[in-house]
Amino acid sequence: MSELESRRAAWTEERGTSDEGKPRDQGGSESNEDPASRGFVAEPHWDRAVELIREADEVCLACHVAPDGDALGSMLALTQALRAMGKTCLPSFGEPFAVPASLRFLPGQELLVEPGRLPAVPKLMITLDAAGAERLGPLASQAEKAAELIVIDHHASNTGFGAVRLVDPVAAATSVLVDELIRRLGVPLDRDIALGLYAGLASDTGSFRYPCTTPQVHELAARLVAAGVRPEAVGRELWDRAPFGYLQVLAGALAKARLERDAAGGLGLVWTSITRADREAQCVPYDALEGVIDQLRRADEAEVAVVCKETDDGDWYVSTRSKGLVDVGQACVAMGGGGHYNAAAFTAAGDPADLIDRLRAELHGPHLHDAA
Ligand code: MN
Repeated sequence: MSELESRRAAWTEERGTSDEGKPRDQGGSESNEDPASRGFVAEPHWDRAVELIREADEVCLACHVAPDGDALGSMLALTQALRAMGKTCLPSFGEPFAVPASLRFLPGQELLVEPGRLPAVPKLMITLDAAGAERLGPLASQAEKAAELIVIDHHASNTGFGAVRLVDPVAAATSVLVDELIRRLGVPLDRDIALGLYAGLASDTGSFRYPCTTPQVHELAARLVAAGVRPEAVGRELWDRAPFGYLQVLAGALAKARLERDAAGGLGLVWTSITRADREAQCVPYDALEGVIDQLRRADEAEVAVVCKETDDGDWYVSTRSKGLVDVGQACVAMGGGGHYNAAAFTAAGDPADLIDRLRAELHGPHLHDAA
């Protein structure tokens, strides 16, 4: 396996906790630019991005719907850097327009504007952490009509939209690319900008645990900490706090989890389900359940972990994780969903036990691939 392939494999493996269910990573089909030195972004794209921003008075920014730490942190960091340059900024994201509780510590969110306030045809628009225009929800229209569009992203599944592309599928986070852009714009990192970038970096590296955690990632983290970020404070906000009701829902989900040692080719399956009633009894919204699978997948006896979550519509969103020997992405595609080798999901109607019966039949293992 070449250096690039192994870096890409590491990158794909890292896409764990928040990137499931997106268009399946086809691998190897993205850029034909030389990735050897600094990643995938061609120098003329950096130059053009800097030029467009310097010339602009007003900049519209959008990150993907249901923003995570990288999407929102990157967008707010860039917004604050552009404001330091004297630009008028309109940062937003598509409905539901609500900052997740775990990200309410991010500075600059008072600058967010409702998606409806963006002009229908922006002169300059920048999208962040969105693999395709459809990930912008209703703001896809603005991205398509913008006179100039800069795309900043690190998904291998990026569709290739936008003329000015700061897209590097090997970058650990979109915030890595935003840091480089801010550097090229000549804006110094202050604490608030650094905090957004750090939130993105910490989120997408799984708190510096995933294989994408390179020496360069730690060097960027060092600069951000030097600019005033307190890692323990960010870590507490992102991972170490939850309403008591969430712990009760988690406890219920773990208590009724089933371990099937013979499933997934004898490698083991652990699964559970959370009904709408389970969480409503504790006033826990659906989108607060994202971390449940990270607890369940700790089970040593199971290669595959699955959490079935009932949505507000009564459908089941089924999240799956593999430790590397079973391709859950393929299994979820067979179930009508998508995602990556190690993290994927599908949505279906019915009863969780029946959905697991169908999913179990798609879990073939062990799959011995190059990266193992
Ligand atoms: Mn990201």
